[in-house]
Amino acid sequence: MKFGGTSVGSIEKIKRVATRIIKKKKAGHDLIVVVSAMGKMTDQLVEMAHALSQRPSKREMDMLLATGEQQTMSLLAMHLIQEKVDAISMTGWQAGIVTETSHGNARIETIETFPIKTQLENGKVVIVAGFQGVTEGEAITTLGRGGSDTSAVALAAAFKAELCEIYTDVDGVYTTDPRYVSKARKLSELSYDEMLEMANLGAGVLHPRSVENAKKYKVPLVVRSSFNEDPGTIIKEEPSLEKGQAVSGLAFEKEVSKITLLGLPNQLQTLSTVFKVLAEAGVNVDIIIQNAMNELTTSISFTIHTSSLSDTLDVLNLNQSTLQFNEINVESDLAKVSIIGSGMVSNPGVAADMFEVMTRNKVKIKMVSTSEIKVSTVIPVDDLHVSLEALHEAFHLDQPVSELGVTPGPK
Ligand code: ADP
Ligand code: ASP
Ligand code: MG
Repeated sequence: MKFGGTSVGSIEKIKRVATRIIKKKKAGHDLIVVVSAMGKMTDQLVEMAHALSQRPSKREMDMLLATGEQQTMSLLAMHLIQEKVDAISMTGWQAGIVTETSHGNARIETIETFPIKTQLENGKVVIVAGFQGVTEGEAITTLGRGGSDTSAVALAAAFKAELCEIYTDVDGVYTTDPRYVSKARKLSELSYDEMLEMANLGAGVLHPRSVENAKKYKVPLVVRSSFNEDPGTIIKEEPSLEKGQAVSGLAFEKEVSKITLLGLPNQLQTLSTVFKVLAEAGVNVDIIIQNAMNELTTSISFTIHTSSLSDTLDVLNLNQSTLQFNEINVESDLAKVSIIGSGMVSNPGVAADMFEVMTRNKVKIKMVSTSEIKVSTVIPVDDLHVSLEALHEAFHLDQPVSELGVTPGPK
């Protein structure tokens, strides 16, 4: 069982979570419980760090952020013990969660199961701090924002758990973020691949790496509310209920910037030179387009997260003489909207339907990228809301496919 920040945001909420745990324990289950930091604690810790340093040491940042989860785990364990449930809390390193060294965004490499196994054999409910691990060199690491989901799935895989339940503040995975689209509908089932695309394309409900691991190790995954008994959304290999739906969800990212390099030499190696420079500087590039302008020159456009805009521009300007561009154009205030669905593979024309909806709503599409099960468009952020509402409606996402009886096209 994994409980996210909002589910453990106060002492009262921690008590409610404990009630759920006690019920499960009494039903005869062995339990590993993963917790996040309380409410906005991680944000507050980040803010404190930035009040002291513009670029805080990454090692020290991980030390600091790891304390958020430690508060929750000990409070929860204390309360369970008070309620006469045998419980013990463990940090990531005590729980044997070994990661690679990259601070702030570390991947889990292995889990040494011995420490938790011993406690489970003693009949204890084991409460583990999510989002953190330790390197071979004994440095504390964190797994990237939202990473407690990944801790939970990795533990479920390592212990071959019957089920990994992600408890959060919504009833499950919706067709799109229910905070943005009022008609968003909860999905009862979803495939790993669809969920992976949704998570990678911005649906913050699950950390992308948690879905990656769930798929790889076939972990049965459920996303459900910590506040009610709704069964939530099951994520598994093949969805059965929503099959036939070309589009099963929408995802979006808000802080997108587009950079265009004009007047680059039109040579074989231009693309590789540009993106090597960016990769070496650790810039995460998303959609890329190249346009030959004439025989001599070419232009390249790409998108990045707006938070890395100034770093990216610094890198490009520093390497101007190697890259030989004439001019840089920047467009900020963009968003990326994606439609996702495994039914797309067998439904040609879904991308065309999407473009038609956008055209009808006078939304200017700046860039496009596709895969077998998604189409992403980059648009002005001011048009995000209208696009989400229109696409949700056009692809009939507010109605379950069983009520439609046919594969829906756009209205
Ligand atoms: P937790 O603290 O439990 O980890 P998060 O805030 O990380 O919770 O994730 C839950 C939030 O994810 C929801 O409140 C919702 O606004 C957002 N979200 C984004 N996309 C979706 C989606 N497709 N389905 C459900 N929730 C979504
Ligand atoms: N507390 C961490 C965060 O806010 C990890 C998590 O919640 O999953 O990002
Ligand atoms: Mg989360």
